[in-house]
Amino acid sequence: MADKPYLKRLPDPKGYYGEYGGAALPPDLAAEMEKIDHAYRTIGNSHDFILRLRDIRKHFQGRPTPVYYAKRLTDSVGGARIYLKREDLNHTGAHKLNHCMGEALLASYLGKRKLIAETGAGQHGVALATAAAYFGLECEIYMGEVDIAKEHPNVIRMKMLGAKVVPVGFGQRTLKEAVDAAFEAYMQDPVTSMYAIGSVVGPHPFPMMVRDFQAVVGIEAREQFHSMTGHLPDHVMACVGGGSNAMGMFAGFIDDPVDLWGVEPLGRGTGKLGDHAASLRYGRPGLIHGFTTMTLADDDGTPAAVHSVASGLDYPGVGPEHAYLFAQGRTRLAGATDEDAIRAFYRLSRLEGIIPALESAHALAFASQLAVEHPNDSILVNLSGRGDKDMDYVYENYPPETWA
Ligand SMILES: *Cc1c(COP(=O)(O)O)cnc(C)c1O
Repeated sequence: MADKPYLKRLPDPKGYYGEYGGAALPPDLAAEMEKIDHAYRTIGNSHDFILRLRDIRKHFQGRPTPVYYAKRLTDSVGGARIYLKREDLNHTGAHKLNHCMGEALLASYLGKRKLIAETGAGQHGVALATAAAYFGLECEIYMGEVDIAKEHPNVIRMKMLGAKVVPVGFGQRTLKEAVDAAFEAYMQDPVTSMYAIGSVVGPHPFPMMVRDFQAVVGIEAREQFHSMTGHLPDHVMACVGGGSNAMGMFAGFIDDPVDLWGVEPLGRGTGKLGDHAASLRYGRPGLIHGFTTMTLADDDGTPAAVHSVASGLDYPGVGPEHAYLFAQGRTRLAGATDEDAIRAFYRLSRLEGIIPALESAHALAFASQLAVEHPNDSILVNLSGRGDKDMDYVYENYPPETWA
């Protein structure tokens, strides 16, 4: 067993990565998850499915995305060579389409008519609406009323793509309630609809499926980096919200002697609950949305309020596989504050002509720091998305006259 490649070894058949993961659900929902797990393990591994997904990636998504040597960034930092995996060049501008196309392809094999999901800032909603349009599926996206008011452009994009955006008006009216509402809608109609989660989180089999669909990022990057340089990078890093772009990147290097760094959002930098969303650094084991992982919770166990300047990193938990890999010592933990991310956002824009997503800017911030400490090394950063969605916010709140 031990010589099987990592991706074939974990999770175990019940969806556990060590003590993390699983599916703690009411019986009817658990039965649905078992059906999806079975479908994924059979259909998802079929020759036909793999060929169709490969074709979609090439002709629709624009894969492979390049690996780019950021020379001016490297020169300005004055240390290790910094390379970027350009997931910002993926269709729709981020890595999320990688798993949305996979989930939607599986749904279409299963004869489903509708995709259901929640969205926070709207990035997952837009990617899923895109996949639904491609496959001719209906799409229903649950979104808190507070987020709808904040994320107007993404709401419009989802509607343009033909999705139905359902406002969620109870509780805090943000992501957590949207998850609850989306799950409830899915349970009303699990035969003709499929739930499609937005990261390597949720009950089994979602963390496994999303990781496997995202693994294309790391597998491509490993080959590209090697053919550019003749060796592997010393360090590979990615920002960690739920952890899908990081897991996809790590998947390509996990059996290699390469340092894998997950960069968490330290927000305001105080370390106080409510000021950050660093679940691995400050969290403790607990149950959230049907699975066990490291969570940020109040004393009574309810998910805590979280903060990050990057709304895609704003989740009081993390994928169970990240909790496992970190506990094993296979991955290493880093962080970046809101202000670190803003500086990295401007640095990449000005030096390379690439405006990064604020999420990705967290990984870039840490890359620059590590580069100075290890001047002879090479660093590969997953640039998970482009920053068009963040420009107005940054311009208004962190104007270039002060921050660039
Ligand atoms: C959603 C998002 C993230 C965070 O999600 P992960 O599952 O942690 O990857 C990171 N970057 C971008 C551009 C995103 O849209």
